[in-house]
Amino acid sequence: MDTNHIEALRSLVGDPARVILNPQIVEQLSRDFYWYSPVLRKLLDGKMGEVVVQPLSAVEIQGVLRFCYANNIPVTARGAGTGNYGQAIPLEGGVVLDLSRMDRIEEILPEGVAICQPGVRLGELENEGRKAGWELRCYPSTIIKASVGGFLGGGSGGIGTVAHGYLRDYQTVRALEVVTMEPEPRIVLHQGEAVHEILHAWGTNGIITKIWLALTPAVNWSQCIAAFDTFAAAFDSAEKIATDSGWIKRLVTVFEWPIPSFFTPIRQFVPEGKTLIFFMIASAQLAELEAAVRESGGTVTQSGEYPGLNARPLLSDYTWNHTTLWAMRSDEAYTYLQCGFDPDTVREQMRQLRERFGQEFLFHMEFMKNGEGRVIPGAIPVVYYTTEERLNDMIDFCREIGVFVANPHVNNVEGGGRYRADNVQLLAKLRYDPKGLLNPGKMATFHSESATAGAKTK
Ligand code: FAD
Repeated sequence: MDTNHIEALRSLVGDPARVILNPQIVEQLSRDFYWYSPVLRKLLDGKMGEVVVQPLSAVEIQGVLRFCYANNIPVTARGAGTGNYGQAIPLEGGVVLDLSRMDRIEEILPEGVAICQPGVRLGELENEGRKAGWELRCYPSTIIKASVGGFLGGGSGGIGTVAHGYLRDYQTVRALEVVTMEPEPRIVLHQGEAVHEILHAWGTNGIITKIWLALTPAVNWSQCIAAFDTFAAAFDSAEKIATDSGWIKRLVTVFEWPIPSFFTPIRQFVPEGKTLIFFMIASAQLAELEAAVRESGGTVTQSGEYPGLNARPLLSDYTWNHTTLWAMRSDEAYTYLQCGFDPDTVREQMRQLRERFGQEFLFHMEFMKNGEGRVIPGAIPVVYYTTEERLNDMIDFCREIGVFVANPHVNNVEGGGRYRADNVQLLAKLRYDPKGLLNPGKMATFHSESATAGAKTK
């Protein structure tokens, strides 16, 4: 890009201060949490955009994309940059489209659907929703920082998934609006099934500018930590509670020792050598839960009302992919995988993994509801990294014994395991981004020749 390009971008967004060239800021806004993966670290270190543009509206985005299309300039969308797979890291320079200033919650409809811009932080939406009697169905453990648009573009689930499934399930995303990367960029509304063309496509097939997100009635939550002598006893107890629909819960997480030893700020609740379960449970059921924990041989080490995201301790800060962060703080050789165990053979699968990899593969289990309504044992195991070959051995072995793996050590939509077999994300990219300028390199099955050929034969 040259100075003429920069001048043109400045004129397009009205306020020149929203076109940023400062190299430190450009670098900072080109990065995410890709360094969680030793494999991606090697691949992505040093990659960055050339300029940051901060739009305020879909119309401004149309102007920027029209200009970038005409001048073959890549554009990479960015929410809060908390993604783990280098999703928001530009591979070919160009514009980092920072959506953080489009942060307005437009409305929370009486039926519990929030209408908002993509830069709204999930924590803000949770807090505002609760004021109106609603709350998020599911959210990543990065809720305080992560944006709604980034969650749709690159996230999958988290706290609440045990009750409400993933973001992609149960029509949680009711509709969204995207701006396309065409000679004349359009604003297109995707509703119902059509949202799946855009969800989890890493910003490769359109810029999300407006979202209709279904919420759920707010619950008075409590948090609870239970300690068990053995992993087997903790897992049995957690599974019983997670799979029984009578319990109103938002989080059921099991950490085998030594994972709890990494949680330094809450060491007072972590007895040496024990397996822990972290729960978020309806306050009305807290006493009953504590009794159930004791009955199955556990001890409650901490419990109490959850006042919201300012809770201290905030247990969600240790769950989902925050667990990996605590492990890496203890020893930077730790990394992670994302797994789905078979609910019928999970104990045998875990036994085989332990036999094969010993303490290199530590069990961090997250119970989650799948699209068919069954609560299954998912996992974000903490694994000890030695070589890429050994990591791939672990992935291959998991798959061999029927454990699903969404590989977080690859930098494209397809490799991450969340790609849809019906190809709708690719088909949308062929229509909306024929030159392949949106987050280039991240949709491995896209080739711009096919898009151009498709256009010619239409
Ligand atoms: P970004 O990282 O900015 O972007 C993510 C992707 O979406 C990128 O490809 C980007 O190009 C694209 N994108 C952003 N905005 C738009 C837009 N408006 N239109 C189109 N594309 C867009 N994820 C989970 O799902 N569950 C978890 O529990 C979880 N825990 C985490 C814990 C830690 C400690 C960390 C570091 C990450 C975790 N993540 C988790 C990953 C990440 O935090 C979430 O997916 C989060 O929702 C991403 O939001 P963001 O605003 O930071 O997105």
